Amino acid sequence: MAHSLPPTASTTRPKRVVVKLGTGVLTSGIGELNTARIAAVCADIAALRARGTEVIVVSSGAVGLGMGRLGLTKKPKETSKKQACAAIGQSLLMQTWQAGFAPHGLVVAQVLLTHDDLRLRSRYLGVQETLRQLIRYGTIPVINENDTVSAAEIHAMLKFGDNDTLSAMVASLIGAEHLIILSTAPGLVDLKGNGQIVPVVERITPEIEAMAGGTTSETATGGMISKIAAAKLATKSGCGVFIASGAEPEILAKLLCGRGPGTFFVPSGLPLEARKHWLAFFQRPAGTLLVNANAVPVLREQGRSLLAVGVTGTRGEFTAGDIVNLAGPDGIVFARGKVAFGSDEIPALTGRKGDAVAALYPARKRLEVIHRNDLVLL
Ligand code: GLU
Repeated sequence: MAHSLPPTASTTRPKRVVVKLGTGVLTSGIGELNTARIAAVCADIAALRARGTEVIVVSSGAVGLGMGRLGLTKKPKETSKKQACAAIGQSLLMQTWQAGFAPHGLVVAQVLLTHDDLRLRSRYLGVQETLRQLIRYGTIPVINENDTVSAAEIHAMLKFGDNDTLSAMVASLIGAEHLIILSTAPGLVDLKGNGQIVPVVERITPEIEAMAGGTTSETATGGMISKIAAAKLATKSGCGVFIASGAEPEILAKLLCGRGPGTFFVPSGLPLEARKHWLAFFQRPAGTLLVNANAVPVLREQGRSLLAVGVTGTRGEFTAGDIVNLAGPDGIVFARGKVAFGSDEIPALTGRKGDAVAALYPARKRLEVIHRNDLVLL
């Protein structure tokens, strides 16, 4: 059987997602609301809801909006001042969300949490039950850290520190299939390498962590480091994580059908079939492998591996291990997979039978150009 991956059910229509928005998405300049952006995000979320996906929002912005209201241009250093800003900004934040969702007939529910609320089992269960009830009532829970009290806790450990961590904990608490972290960052960018967005991260390795740098903005808190830490936390509990730009129109819908620019972190511990789903989220494959007319039905209907004999050429440059599109003689992309050879190696392999490939790579055991376990039909 071919492993088809129509981006359906669990991809385009997940049951439950957590959407986390950074201050930079909601504001333009310090403390100035970006109302057009907020309206667009609300419309995007309402569209998801209309398709049957439950959405929980984790929203930053309280401190930033409070700063704006007070006319501060620098984030105060003193805890009490930050807490005061949060107290001022939080109500503005909720008014903003309510105004954004009202045209869609949606009601928002404010939930403010401290670290202790999720650390202590009894409180954790209480929060979980309340969130479930809010969802049953058809509301959109809008969660933020309760900055006004939590920053005062004696131990820094008692604070989430940033809403990225909070959003990952909420995603795991509520059993969300996806956590979508929207900020001013377009995704995880490989600054040391090709300068491009890393489309998919299968495992968060030290190299991946090294790609993240701290935040530089006046109102933002976490930066990429805390987003990666959040992704680590959420993927461990089986939740797929996207990091993408909140400025991109219709970003939620795009991400969920694998067309969005951004980075997808594959949830860990998945069985093979489920693991293959992440290939669908590969928005920007490194290149294309062209295959002949015989190979198309073999891959499509028989679920076999792609062998060199079926390959006719390449488009773009890629290296072994990259994700590439597969196109038939009509040029239509019909599959995607993790390629075992680089684009510079392919010319010597095209149209070759197994023996000839084995002669070229005597030390290699696996000679498939794309193994069936690494291939998904679109
Ligand atoms: N809770 C903070 C706020 O609402 C934001 C923290 C964060 O962005 O990580 O301003």
